[in-house]
Amino acid sequence: MSTAQATPVAPAVGAFLSRQHKLLIGGAWVAAASGKSFETLNPATGDILAHVAHGDAADAEAAVAAARKAFESGPWPVMTASERGRLVWKLADLLEQHTEEFAQLESLDNGKPVAVARAADVPLAVDLFRYMAGWATKLEGTTIPLSVPYTPGAKYFAYTQREPAGVVAQIIPWNFPLLMAAWKLGPALAAGCTVVLKPAEQTPLSALRLGELIQEAGFPAGVVNIVTGFGQAGAALAAHPGVDKVAFTGSTEVGKLIVKAGAGNLKKVSLELGGKSPNIVFADADLDAAIPGAASAIFFNHGQCCCAGSRLYVERKIFDRVVEGVAASAKKIKLGPGMDPATEMGPLVSREQLDRVCGFLASGAEEGAQAVAGGRKRDGKGFFVEPTVLVNATPQMKVYREEIFGPVVTAIPFDREDAVTALSNDNPYGLAAAVWTKDVSKAHTLAAKLRAGTVWVNCYNIFDAALPFGGYKESGWGREMGKDVLELYTQTKAVCVRL
Ligand code: NAP
Ligand code: MG
Repeated sequence: MSTAQATPVAPAVGAFLSRQHKLLIGGAWVAAASGKSFETLNPATGDILAHVAHGDAADAEAAVAAARKAFESGPWPVMTASERGRLVWKLADLLEQHTEEFAQLESLDNGKPVAVARAADVPLAVDLFRYMAGWATKLEGTTIPLSVPYTPGAKYFAYTQREPAGVVAQIIPWNFPLLMAAWKLGPALAAGCTVVLKPAEQTPLSALRLGELIQEAGFPAGVVNIVTGFGQAGAALAAHPGVDKVAFTGSTEVGKLIVKAGAGNLKKVSLELGGKSPNIVFADADLDAAIPGAASAIFFNHGQCCCAGSRLYVERKIFDRVVEGVAASAKKIKLGPGMDPATEMGPLVSREQLDRVCGFLASGAEEGAQAVAGGRKRDGKGFFVEPTVLVNATPQMKVYREEIFGPVVTAIPFDREDAVTALSNDNPYGLAAAVWTKDVSKAHTLAAKLRAGTVWVNCYNIFDAALPFGGYKESGWGREMGKDVLELYTQTKAVCVRL
């Protein structure tokens, strides 16, 4: 680990951490109905960072009631689209003004390097809010010429309008705590919904601070409610008959539970789930870009990305060179606490995730995969695991088939384009894929054939508020970001007038 001086904790962050954190319900910060709280830990040390209210079904109930009230009466539903958009924009401005504070909170709670949170997580969240603020005034319907054959001679004027989906429950994970909150809240608020947000138990802090900024921005009471807690709070929201729509990001396993829970009132469901994304390097690629690209595809955010490039397919004649390059990058990565400016990779988010990832490493070794870099956890404090490159894996192995959600890539050689396409698509998931080649025709042909919601060509992990993101197959339902996401938070009303 590096010995460099850690980034000093900003006074505002220190003050925030020392507060007793409550739930945001109906515009007020309130204790959990049970009076209970839980600890959130610093994954770099295992030490307690803060105490957070332990919301459960009773709090979910109160939050849904507050969101319903705000949706149906009060200032929110009568605000103009422009006023709504300006509030979302103001939230972006406030967030931007507090970039350092959010970067530090994110680093302390999640473990990611503070420099990464400063350069990526916070600015992406700001930009997402700004992009969505603009959509508030652009949610238009259409006019439709009617022919109605059974009313000859009658004239009609018909149009559609897009109305907010209603009360929305949003359940988010711990890998990008602030950014996931932004991806969810931005479009819902632009569309005029009201929200109950359930952050992950491992990383509740940035969402709570965002809740304070939401109040400061002037959103009416009850428009955004935040219930921190465990899976039971999320389950209560997913099942609640007063919730019109649930948006979830997390594991495919819990995603399936959400679908079942939502069936009671057939609430609208959108899901952004796991992945096992193929990253394909052809021999004609610019390897000076592809090798570091393949390393960052898996090691960014410690592999805790739903779209991590965890299956690295390399054309056989360059296999050794690419694997050696990625392994050399892995060995050079500086592991350390996120708050240390020299750190390139922080700890995993929790002991549970560390155990899970180590379980995969053990299973890979047992099944005969070989680690050419990493392969172990780091001894000592914190939840650190070495960036790992596995070779000699077969498509039957667990490490090849299942989502590891850690910095572990499995490299597999291939000979032919059709073979690598088939291998890539032999996958229960379909979130993302990448192709590295200088051959434009090959790139577009593969982009069409790969069964994934995103295909990157000669790049990886490129996100933009305007670019839709979401999964084929068991990677989910619906698209986040871009104009597509507005579909999730609006419904179409057809109005037909006989003239
Ligand atoms: P998870 O259980 O799917 O958690 C995601 C969110 O769902 C959290 O807010 C969680 O609350 C909540 N939740 C848990 N059980 C629920 C239920 N029955 N009903 C409604 N909400 C519920 O993910 P995890 O256990 O933290 O991670 C396990 C694996 O999921 C990872 O190893 C990875 O494979 C995958 N994962 C994927 C993503 C992604 O971006 N697609 C993100 C995170 C994890 P609590 O955390 O408070 O229990
Ligand atoms: Mg934590």
